[in-house]
Amino acid sequence: MTRYACEMCGMEFDLQREFDDHNSSIHGMQKIECSECAIIFNTKEELLEHNRKVHKA
Ligand SMILES: [Zn+2]
Ligand SMILES: [Zn+2]
Repeated sequence: MTRYACEMCGMEFDLQREFDDHNSSIHGMQKIECSECAIIFNTKEELLEHNRKVHKA
């Protein structure tokens, strides 16, 4: 079963939603959104890969 581990404080979560809540409430992280197609990513790396693959950036 996949767990979500916070890279900043090491807390683990069973649900993506809980992890997202933790990030936004504890660490104040904004979701990372593609400016061209509005898809939301959890990490900057995912957005960069998306940009490379989809937008050829
Ligand atoms: Zn954390
Ligand atoms: Zn995009």
